[in-house]
Amino acid sequence: MHCPFCQHEDTRVIDSRVSDDGSTIRRRRECEACGERFNTFETAEIKLPNVVKGDGRREAFDEGKLRTGFMRALQKRPVGSEQVDAAVRAVVESLRRSGEREVPSMRIGELVMRELKTLDHVAYVRFASVYRSFEDVQAFREEIERLERDLPSLEGLQLSLLGDPKPGKAKS
Ligand SMILES: [Zn+2]
Repeated sequence: MHCPFCQHEDTRVIDSRVSDDGSTIRRRRECEACGERFNTFETAEIKLPNVVKGDGRREAFDEGKLRTGFMRALQKRPVGSEQVDAAVRAVVESLRRSGEREVPSMRIGELVMRELKTLDHVAYVRFASVYRSFEDVQAFREEIERLERDLPSLEGLQLSLLGDPKPGKAKS
């Protein structure tokens, strides 16, 4: 490839390194004419499917929007940003693996719910309450009821993990 500094037609690869996760190759190049060095990166181009919205409109998949959805559901919840990153990656990976050209936004919602379910039940319920369509209201109610049965033990678990039970602050 040509030199971005002096436009000389040829540059030499002087080093080439694969990233730790194996997804990127970084090449260090040197221009034979001006001696400048620069990096190039090589990654696989894998297209993510387009998103088909409820009203039939299509839009490009947007990882930023996905992250915002997670963050909104997880607001003020004890979940770290690395965990959010991992959840976003898991959803993106599922979409990639599907190999579909188009995916309904509902499907993405399901994937988000699957991640939230293991991350934080409160966030899961928040997200589900916004996301679920009206036809699903019965299924949603059942889900809430099921969660309400499970939640006391989960809360207890989270408290014991924090290792700092507050005496005197009894639960009603
Ligand atoms: Zn040059």
